[in-house]
Amino acid sequence: RQERYRQLRFKAPVTLDGVRIALNTNAGLLFDLPHFDESGADGIGLFRTELQFMIAPTFPKMGQQAELYSKILDGATGRPVTFRTLDIGGDKVLPYLTRSVQEENPAMGWRAIRIGLDRTVILRTQVRALLKAAGGRELRVMFPMISTVEEFVKAKELVKGEQRFLEKHGHALPSSLKLGAMIEVPALLFELDELLSVVDFVSVGTNDLFQFMLAVDRGNAKVAQRFDPLAPSFLRALRTIARKSAEYGKPATLCGELGGTPLTAMALMAIGFRSMSMAATSVGPVKDMIRSVNLGELEALLAPALNRPDGPPIRKLLQDFAESRD
Ligand code: PEP
Ligand code: MG
Repeated sequence: RQERYRQLRFKAPVTLDGVRIALNTNAGLLFDLPHFDESGADGIGLFRTELQFMIAPTFPKMGQQAELYSKILDGATGRPVTFRTLDIGGDKVLPYLTRSVQEENPAMGWRAIRIGLDRTVILRTQVRALLKAAGGRELRVMFPMISTVEEFVKAKELVKGEQRFLEKHGHALPSSLKLGAMIEVPALLFELDELLSVVDFVSVGTNDLFQFMLAVDRGNAKVAQRFDPLAPSFLRALRTIARKSAEYGKPATLCGELGGTPLTAMALMAIGFRSMSMAATSVGPVKDMIRSVNLGELEALLAPALNRPDGPPIRKLLQDFAESRD
């Protein structure tokens, strides 16, 4: 199988009925670059910048951040890279970042963009590093754990401010800059029109979105496996995001674990996703699946199932569908 996936490296992820699906990888360190390259992915769909911070003894300096981002862009050789600003807090703790209170529910606490908007020096420094590293090149940045459109707008203004600062000081700016929001907090589903009017793209973080929609702690083994993300309720939510984004002409991609197995990726394609980001090791198996299915058939299979929360499990339908093709 490994050999089979290796051979797929230079083949495009296109379904039997000719639909091209973009496959990207999730990354976070320089160490990920060779895996990204071997996977034959279209780009890096999620670069988790917090990893550099988590392995450092103290806040990485602006220059160190810029150096890493620049090396990542070099390694991607023109393929798009989407950097996510710091997502610390929750399960990702930085010992050197002081907190005033002990949190009972850190996943819903002071984390990600909330820290960035409160301690703007942290976000500003990171944004400056990103803008500098991408001088003369394309830059894509997204913000984690956005809960309201207003938060995204504030983060966007901060980026624009940094851009003006660098321009005034004669630095080369990115040749293009795209700013996106991660959809991980359910409230955004009810503000999609407003959100899609101000973003360049959205990226669905299904790990967090599922945790918050079902109120099921993703890190708690006792409950984490209790509900199936392929249940109609969750797939309907994801379908709404895919449809609305298409309506607004804004690319929607998905970077949670759900994109990373052939079976779940099948469901995501069937409800409208045309771009996914996953671990480098998932690209081969997912591509293999894409090249063996007819998307029209898959859509016809899933559409009625989504209308029936009381119907047979969608996972089972997809398993049967996959087996019938083997
Ligand atoms: C997610 O929540 O789905 C996601 C991609 O972000 P992380 O797993 O880093 O929280
Ligand atoms: Mg997340």
